[in-house]
Amino acid sequence: MKLKEIYSSKKPVISYEVFPPKDDDSGEKLENLMKELNLLKQYNPSLISVTYGAGGSTRGKSEEIVCRVKDELKITPMPHFTCVSTDKTTIRTYLKKLENAGVKNILALRGDLPQDGICCHDFLHASDLIEFIKKESSLAVAAAGYPEGHIEAESLEKDIEYLKLKVEKGAEIIYTQLFFENDKYFHFVEKCANARINVPVIPGILPVTSYKQLSKMTSLCRVTIPYDFLDKIEQHSDDNDYVKKCGIEFTQKQCAELLENGVQGLHFYTLNKSYAVSNILENLRQSAG
Ligand code: FAD
Repeated sequence: MKLKEIYSSKKPVISYEVFPPKDDDSGEKLENLMKELNLLKQYNPSLISVTYGAGGSTRGKSEEIVCRVKDELKITPMPHFTCVSTDKTTIRTYLKKLENAGVKNILALRGDLPQDGICCHDFLHASDLIEFIKKESSLAVAAAGYPEGHIEAESLEKDIEYLKLKVEKGAEIIYTQLFFENDKYFHFVEKCANARINVPVIPGILPVTSYKQLSKMTSLCRVTIPYDFLDKIEQHSDDNDYVKKCGIEFTQKQCAELLENGVQGLHFYTLNKSYAVSNILENLRQSAG
């Protein structure tokens, strides 16, 4: 199914993001991921997105997961694709391969710039990649949005200008970076609407399950952590069970508020684990009666 059809649903669309496991020569981690996704399947996800290592470092594994999501789980996959350090010919070949495999959607990204600053310059921005994908394929394209502004952006306003360009070039839906303050997301959605960005802006949700993981994630992007929540888990940072419990409670409330405000979907950053997301979706299901 293509993105437009998926998001024409009257019910909020549940989707998950997973990543290709690292150091997985035996394939055991991949099998574990498939088990976790099988557990998460009971919450009727409409889409599973699969990340892509910048520069193509995880391409083979990403492709394998995409195909298994489609063929074994019978769920629509959405591969991510990044355009740093690659060229038009490689991208063209990859797009053909995806289409031949029956893939219908793609999340088009620039990717993080290499630390040495050296990269190929066929495409400088995600908007260039989106334009190319629309010309070269029939894939439906999604793009990334940043409720608090991308880390390199000079301002949120400027970032939204470029987001608009991504939509003008053909992005049909926006998935946001993780955020913890819903007001930041609501403000962002309002600003997008004011800028005449008329596509769904789907919130990206990260259930916090460890203090270390939270520190790592938040060091990589611009995101505010509510003081009360941070204080609570900082005081018990070594107690993983406590942090997980607080994280699940926090995210469940966050999701409930987003749903009350009519979001078209929830896109969960699962980190390849089912426990937190299952708990949250089960509790939301029960409270919805
Ligand atoms: P762009 O839209 O190109 O924006 C990058 C920066 O350039 C922004 O600061 C923007 O304001 C600015 N900009 C954009 N267009 C222009 C222009 N025309 N002129 C001047 N400046 C411009 N990374 C991975 O490596 N693999 C993944 O699978 C992956 N998945 C992701 C999924 C989601 C939902 C999100 C939110 C992020 C993901 N990322 C992934 C991270 C992403 O690659 C980085 O955030 C990257 O730094 C920016 O990618 P982008 O597509 O948003 O880039």
